[in-house]
Amino acid sequence: MLPNRRHLQCRFANCKHRDEPGCAVRRAAEQGKLSLRRLHSYLSLLETLETERR
Ligand SMILES: [Zn+2]
Repeated sequence: MLPNRRHLQCRFANCKHRDEPGCAVRRAAEQGKLSLRRLHSYLSLLETLETERR
């Protein structure tokens, strides 16, 4: 998934990494530390997990 996820500490524990301010994942993507492709696949994976939980 995210190889350096340990270093991606978002401001909110329940961060969805979408529009949250202070999101470390989005910031990493903007700085080129995380590829947008990887970010999008990670987000869609989160969405899948949330859907299956319901
Ligand atoms: Zn985040």
